Formats: sequence, structure tokens, C-alpha cells
Amino acid sequence: MLGTMMNMPLMISSLLQHAANCHSGTEIVSRTTEGPVHRYTYGECWTRTQQLAHALDALGLKAGDRVATLAWNGYRHMEIYYATASTGMVCHTINPRLFPEQIIYIANHAEDAAIFVDLNLLPLVEAIASKLASVKSIVVMTDRAHMPAESKLPNLLCYEELIAGQPTSYDFPEFDENTAAGLCYTSGTTGQPKGVLYSHRSTVLHAISVCTPDVFNLRAADSALVVVPMFHVNGWGMAHAGPLTGCKLVFPSFRMDGASLHDQIVTEGVTRSAGVPTIWMGMLDWVAANKKDLGKLEHVAIGGSACPPVMIEQFRSYGVGVLHAWGMTETSPVCTANNPTNKQAGFSLAEKDKLQIKQGRALYGVQLRVTGADGEELPRDGKSFGGLQVRGPWITGSYFKLDESAAHQDGWFDTGDVVTMDEDGYIQIVDRTKDVIKSGGEWISSIELENIAVGHPAVREAAVVAVPDPKWAERPMLVLVLKPDASVTLAEMQAHFEGKVAKWWIPEQMTIVEELPHTATGKLLKSKIREMVTG
Ligand code: AMP
Repeated sequence: MLGTMMNMPLMISSLLQHAANCHSGTEIVSRTTEGPVHRYTYGECWTRTQQLAHALDALGLKAGDRVATLAWNGYRHMEIYYATASTGMVCHTINPRLFPEQIIYIANHAEDAAIFVDLNLLPLVEAIASKLASVKSIVVMTDRAHMPAESKLPNLLCYEELIAGQPTSYDFPEFDENTAAGLCYTSGTTGQPKGVLYSHRSTVLHAISVCTPDVFNLRAADSALVVVPMFHVNGWGMAHAGPLTGCKLVFPSFRMDGASLHDQIVTEGVTRSAGVPTIWMGMLDWVAANKKDLGKLEHVAIGGSACPPVMIEQFRSYGVGVLHAWGMTETSPVCTANNPTNKQAGFSLAEKDKLQIKQGRALYGVQLRVTGADGEELPRDGKSFGGLQVRGPWITGSYFKLDESAAHQDGWFDTGDVVTMDEDGYIQIVDRTKDVIKSGGEWISSIELENIAVGHPAVREAAVVAVPDPKWAERPMLVLVLKPDASVTLAEMQAHFEGKVAKWWIPEQMTIVEELPHTATGKLLKSKIREMVTG
């Protein structure tokens, strides 16, 4: 017997329509690539999104077509998110920090029909345009006054001209909620990048989940700074969760330096934000050096890489709470978040801190399990390490145009992360499978060592990689970037580790470098670091 409730599909258009209905005067504030700050409201965003949808039709684009963006965080990017998905097209966000060859591969694999590009990323498109087999239209996300006087590309289109004069209302269709809406490729540090195709249903469910109090806790009264790039895994759902709650949205464009972020936090009364540790590290350094505070900021979500305890302490010193979260391109991304439970009410600060460096518990809808070498499920004891597997309505079942399933036969997706899980279901990431250090048959967590190393006052950034060892097979090596004018010896670092980890975990080798290599999404590029130190 079926229930008697209306069968309304979960449509991405409904998120922005809701914001226009109930929060039409709430602001969306964007720094622009052109320079000035742009302000408008959800009402205006909704109108322009409908105009853009007409413009997409006029370009001959159809439902199912992939429309690529090479763009920073801003209001036009948001309009493209909504206009493409709402008409049944697929918004394919491309990370501009990938190597040009990777961008060419991705755009051709996706068979992108059009590319929308931010003004300062146009040179990137000009350099590769001749190799983009399927792209028919290139739209520069600016107005006529800022269009380049000369370009190698003869038929560049101007975003503002495209939408000017288009009708301001569009009858967005309702269709199967499982229809594709967004496409994002994995960073592909090994092998070619693979496409993850999000649906309307997965996107809306994920957005509902990330708004909840134990995740981003987004409310209509909030001002949310979207630090996490919109080109990477839907900006962690912020551009969908914003309209859902009606909170003010603040976009930084490409201006992610400490001074710019701080300025937006203070000027726009930012209360919530989300981003990767590297960006926060830069901002916290700037705020400390310039003796500033963090205005009304209450809460930041941190993920993408492990959040070091020292960062939690630094935010706390400004009265800002940290939510540590975990996810990946294949998982929309957010799967776990670390927020306190009743059980922890009586915990001491030290006990709370110990727990807070974990990546958290599963969000409702996501199931997690940790498996050993033979596929057996490991005990939830907070100690046994194994491969993390996930399943749920916003986890990918397969990759775009690759026929094979991304998941095991029993429907679980292998994340490639090695974790422990405790009795309350909190996971702690130990390493990526390919980065684990196995010394004398036992695992050493590079992430734990890195977290401790960055707690040393001389250290700005730390990586720990495996180096071959005749006796133990592998030993951990510490690779450090120091703060300006700081110095530290191996013995001092070893003393810093003393008492914090088992003795046999402490590295005997250390090297200091000017800079550490990162992936296009800001994670430490461990394969390159291993090459650097092993020659
Ligand atoms: P990506 O698909 O590029 O977003 O990368 C996902 C990977 O980033 C995960 O599989 C983890 O290895 C890593 N990651 C994400 N969040 C965290 C976190 N909070 N702590 C440690 N690693 C993380």
C-alpha cells in the first residue's frame, strides 16, 4: 500500500525558488574578479537565473548537455549552478588549478558543450581551446566593459549581454529527481580523473543534511562565507544550503588571502564558514600578525585534510567553534561531522580536544563501516585500523561513462581512507591507503604525526612520509616548512613528540624545505614529497 502523500520530486530549482519566495531581500555579496564588491538579493538572483536559463536555450543547449565552469566563488557561478540544473543540464565544475592537460582530458571526457569562464581564467581557456573537441560556446563571466579588447578566441560571448533582455521568468520543469545535475572529477593523483555525476535528489538531500545543527548549523539569521571553492564538490553544498535556509551568502572570488577573508568576515558580519585547513592557516597567521579579532564569526567547518589541534585552539582563542568534517568528491562530499553529544557534557577540555581531532560521526543517511585486509568488519574500539567504506543516497554508485560500479558487490563504496572507529561511531582518519607507513609490520599514522608537528611554534606546515629502512621496512620522515625566521633541530622536534605518541613512532629523520607540494585541491601531495626526500 502506498502512502497518500504528494509525489513531488526533489528539484534543485526548488531551493532557489524557496529563497526567492521567503528570503527575497536577503543579500548575496560577492567580491568579483573585476574588482568591486557586488551585492544583490536572492530575489534578484532568482530573476537572473531565469534569464540565464533562457540564454542557455538560445545558445542551443539542451537537457543533458554538460555546461562547464572555470570559475571562482561568486554570484554568477551560483546563477550557472541553478540555471543549468533547473533546465535539466549538468553543471560541470572544473578546478582551474589542475594542469592544462588534465582540464583538456576532463572537458573532452565530459563532452562539455559550453564553458563559462571567469575573466582572470580566460588565458587558461585561450591556451587550451583548440584541444576542446566538443565546446561550441565560450562565455566570459563579465560585462561588456570588462571584455578583453583582443583575444585569440574569435567568438567569445559576454555573460551580461547574453542574459540582458531575456524574459525574467522561466517555467522550470519538474522531472525525475534522479536526473543528473552536477559533475565533478576526482583530482586523479593516480590515473586519470574520474567523473562523479550528482543528481537533483542527492544534491537536495545533502543540502538538507548539511544545514542541520550538528553539521554546518545554518540558519536564516546567519551570514555564511563560502571559502570552500564552488569548483570542488559543489562547494560542500553551501550554495544549495544557503537558499534552503535563507542565510546571507558571502563569496570571496579568488581572494582567499588572510587580509581579504578577514575583511569579508568583519564587513559582512560573517557568523559561519567552511574551508580547508590550508586557507584557515593563512588567515589565522594574518589575524595574529595584525592583532585582529574575528568579528561575529561563531563557527567554522573544517575538512578536506585533517584539522590540526593547534588550529582548533587558535579558533577557540577568538571565540570560534570548529566543526571537523570528512568527505570526498564521490560522497557529495559531507559524510561525517564532529559535534558534541550528551555523553561528552562532563568531559574535561583535554578529553574534548582529543575527541575533536576525530573526523566525526556519520550524518543521518550515510552508513560507515571499517574493514580489515580480508574484508572482515573491524571492531569499533577506536584502535583497529582498516579501510573505510560508505553507502548512502549521496554516495556515488559508479563513475561517469565508466560502466563498472564504483562500489563493492554488496553496495559499499571503498573510500581509500584508513581509519579507526570508536564505540560511538566516531572515525579518525589515519592515512590514505596509499600513504600509510608500515614500520616493523605496524602502522604509523602520518596524519597524527603531522598534527603534532604543526603544534610546534617553529613549524608552519608539516608532512610525514615513509622512507625505506633496512630493518623496519619503512620509517616515518618529517618534512617541515618553518615559520619566517624560525629554526628547529631534529632533537627539538623529537622532544616535542615525546609523550604524545608511542616512542617507536617518533621520526629519526627530518628535512626542512621552502615549500611543500599540494594537489589542486590543497592537500599535501605525498607521492611528490616521497620523491623529494628519497630522490
Ligand atoms: P577529495 O575527493 O579531493 O575531496 O578528497 C577526499 C579525501 O580528502 C578523503 O578521501 C580524505 O583522504 C581527505 N579528507 C577529507 N576530509 C578530511 C579530514 N577531515 N581529515 C583528513 N582527511 C580528509
